[in-house]
Amino acid sequence: IIEVMNLKKSFGALEVLKDVSFSVEPSEVVAVIGPSGSGKSTMLRSIAHLEEVDGGSIRISGEYLVQNGQYASSSKVKQITAHMGMVFQHFNLFPHLTVRSNLELAPKLVRGLPAEEIRSKASVLLEKVGLLDKADVYPSHLSGGQKQRVAIARALMMSPEILLFDEPTSALDPELTGEVLQVMKQLAEERMTMVVVTHEMGFAREVADRVMFMADGEFIESGTPEQLLSRPQHERTKAFLNRVL
Ligand code: ATP
Ligand code: MG
Repeated sequence: IIEVMNLKKSFGALEVLKDVSFSVEPSEVVAVIGPSGSGKSTMLRSIAHLEEVDGGSIRISGEYLVQNGQYASSSKVKQITAHMGMVFQHFNLFPHLTVRSNLELAPKLVRGLPAEEIRSKASVLLEKVGLLDKADVYPSHLSGGQKQRVAIARALMMSPEILLFDEPTSALDPELTGEVLQVMKQLAEERMTMVVVTHEMGFAREVADRVMFMADGEFIESGTPEQLLSRPQHERTKAFLNRVL
């Protein structure tokens, strides 16, 4: 459902993605781990078209977002990125909008769906993340864990086929990470395709089908959680895991 081939991206003289290739199957949950600055966020943001790459290809559900560095037309790009939802470390909720309005904004802007349908979908998703009772409050009145669950519900509003997460629990107090991981685990059980950049090795081990290790703008190795976390092959993976486990 995601095919990334020979992705390259520099910021000025800094080569952040050197040669990134991987693919993700439908319903697969992939955890991406690696040191700070290795390019994990840039890789994820490139897939979501929040960054434009310098070279390589990204194919989503069979359609090229970018092919050999050449981007699709803007209408095509819109159509392709509509398949994906993204959840960020810092939630990125709109502070001046209630929880419900945060969910309803994008569908109201992008598609001409009936307001009643959007409203009932928002209610269903808030219920799903356990926050229907918070529908009419502003984000500032929520805990970090609640904000992140709202962000996940918001990402689900457009019925994405793929969810991309960039360290969804890194900004949370430890006692709040569980409620967010629980929602993600539930999505995994419902067979949502997910790419999760994470420092949560417990989540990677328990929920991911595959773990990929990135360092210096490249994937060094990947495997099942058991293979990669317990029996890493490469020295750099071993060194990284020794530091974080
Ligand atoms: P972390 O684990 O700390 O989130 P990361 O693996 O997500 O790290 P990236 O955020 O992808 O790493 O950044 C990779 C490199 O690119 C870093 O050296 C970073 O400073 C640089 N970088 C990222 N975004 C930009 C930008 N917009 N302009 C210039 N440099 C950038
Ligand atoms: Mg990052």
